[in-house]
This record gives sequence, C-alpha cells and structure tokens, in this order.
Amino acid sequence: MDYTIRRSTRARHVWLRLSASGGLVVVLPQGYSERHVPELVERHRAWLERTASRLAASRTARESKSSTALPGAVALAAVGQSWSVEYRPTASRRVTATEYPEQRVILSGNTCDCDACRDALLRWLRRKAKTVLEPWLRELALHAEFTFGRVVVRSQRTRWASCSRQGAVSLNVRLLFIAPELVRHVMLHELCHTVRMDHSKRFWGLLEKHDPEWQSHRRQVRAAWHEVPSWLNVGPRV
Ligand SMILES: [Zn+2]
Repeated sequence: MDYTIRRSTRARHVWLRLSASGGLVVVLPQGYSERHVPELVERHRAWLERTASRLAASRTARESKSSTALPGAVALAAVGQSWSVEYRPTASRRVTATEYPEQRVILSGNTCDCDACRDALLRWLRRKAKTVLEPWLRELALHAEFTFGRVVVRSQRTRWASCSRQGAVSLNVRLLFIAPELVRHVMLHELCHTVRMDHSKRFWGLLEKHDPEWQSHRRQVRAAWHEVPSWLNVGPRV
C-alpha cells in the first residue's frame, strides 16, 4: 500500500488518514521513527482497505446524479472517518441515528420518511461536530493564545464559521467534510477576529503568524463547498 509521510508538531500519536482521493497519509509525531511505518500500515491493512472502499463508494454516490438521495456512507474528511449508514424500519414514528462500532451509524424508525432521515443524520452530525470541533477549537486557541466566549455549532449554507463581537465562535457542521488543514485555517481566522473584528492588513498579518499558508488555504476553503454532500443541502434548514 502506497503512502506519504507527514510530520506534525500537533500530533500526539501516529495517525493514519485516507484522503478523499483514496491516498494514505501517515502523520507522525515528532521523534517517531519512520522505520515502524511499514509494519504499522500492514497491521491496519484490513481497516485501511475497508475504509478505502467505503470512501470510493461514497465518492461514487456523490458523483452520481441521485446524490441528493439519502447516503449509504458519510465521509468526514476533517477527522479521516468514513461511516456507513444503514436504515432499519421500525414501528416508531420518529427516526433516530445511533452510532455502532467500526464507524456504522444506524437510522431506525420511520425510515420511509426521507426528510425525517435527513434530519436525524443532521442531528447526528451536529453531535459529532460538537464533540470533535469544539475541543479542537479550544486546543487551537490555547496553543495560539486566543480567548473566546462560547462555541455554537450551526448548519448554514453560506458561511463556514463566524465570530461575534462578544467572542462567541459559530462553526458550521459542514466543516466536518473538509480537510483538517482547512478546518484549522477557518478556526484560526475566527480566533483572529477575537482580536480584530475587521479584515484589515493587521488582521491578515495576525492570521499569517498562525497560518503562514493562509492565502492558499483561503482559496481552498472557498472552493471546498463542493465537498459538502448534496443530501445535506436538501430540505428545510435546521
Ligand atoms: Zn473574517
């Protein structure tokens, strides 16, 4: 299995990440020898192959014309996870999404109701965003010495994030679908707003200190809306 190795000062342990295009990235913390990587990849081969095929399946689903249909898999690029989605009809009138081991999420209840299924998936994604994005933002703020107020997870179609004058940061649930370096860029942008509310030269200067590649990241973030699966944009806003 081919892979590329990346070093990260942020990583505390070795991290295997499959990109949306199917390539494997091995993220190593400082001081970890590359010597161990082939054995490590071998040990996780079964999981890697399964995840790669799931990613391929969800890519096909995204590319197909019926991509607004309910998904069979949900790939969360921000955290390198690919969840399979199963639908189990029961007598219940509601639909609930429950996580199971090995990245399976099961929707049970009145699964014939597409809108109810979408809402259940969105509620699940919001819980996920809350547990993943919020600590991530806190760690980033701590590390870069920013202070902010509360964090809210929203589902918006036009903004990745925002920051209020009171320093409350709002994060879009859709961030889960974009690459981790872009999520980091969006978070740093909002954290810089806790210091400067404008987009002045000084603001960009501050951002550059924390994200030297901000210009390229900013371009990529603008283009990243197409990473968001279409099924999420169907139906009423939540
Ligand atoms: Zn801004």
